[in-house]
Amino acid sequence: MKALINDVLCKTISENGRQGLYRDPLIGFARADDSLFGELKRAVGTSHLLPSDILAGAKSVAAFFIPFSKELVEVNKKHPYVAREWAGAYIETNRLISLCCERLAEALTSEGVKANWQQPTHNFDPDKLVSFWSHKHVAYICGLGTFGLHHMLITAAGCAGRVGSIVLDRALDPTPRPETQKCLFHSAGKCLACVRNCPTGALTRDGLDKHKCYGRCLEVDAYYSDLGLCDVCGKCATGPCAVREL
Ligand code: SF4
Ligand code: SF4
Repeated sequence: MKALINDVLCKTISENGRQGLYRDPLIGFARADDSLFGELKRAVGTSHLLPSDILAGAKSVAAFFIPFSKELVEVNKKHPYVAREWAGAYIETNRLISLCCERLAEALTSEGVKANWQQPTHNFDPDKLVSFWSHKHVAYICGLGTFGLHHMLITAAGCAGRVGSIVLDRALDPTPRPETQKCLFHSAGKCLACVRNCPTGALTRDGLDKHKCYGRCLEVDAYYSDLGLCDVCGKCATGPCAVREL
């Protein structure tokens, strides 16, 4: 079953993703009754869903990370504002994640497995900026990485990329969560590149001002209004943890 999920994901990305935009995806799995889902609900707020809210009879959750290419990260890093290519990749990759989930659900259905998912983004309360299903936290539970100072998940392939997830009614072995911190600040008290790269002061060594950060993302959306909804910035995802070699 895991091999099928991996094959469908890789095929969907290679056939539908823009060439040169992505590196190989990562996939992780968790039991639907992992206690961290309940802890996440308590930490994020009661509006956060459990796997069983997404799919009756949920047994497992699969999360996947689609890493951006080194070239795309460099373009955004060097751009004095947010690169148009980065904003476009955000939109394009959200569509690709939805397609991956559709293809996965089709393939799983043909094996007698039910699956359901939440859209890749904009599934949050716009006032509180609290997600109903935080893919990056779900990816953490599925063993895909650890959180950096910049509040993004740093995976084995880095943090620059997008995350999706899907809930299944088939039990699958969970992926062990990493035992060591991947953020240089959390592991060794150094780096802070993400803080230096943040143009708004939303990110400091003491935390993230979500409202200030999202204000910047909305500004980018207005700047590239011809592209579609691109409330993204990502300047903090251009440091040493952006791209990691597998
Ligand atoms: S840029 Fe440095 S401090 Fe910031 S999250 Fe990445 S490794 Fe941690
Ligand atoms: S997304 Fe932009 S504004 Fe938000 S913390 Fe990162 S660099 Fe700062």
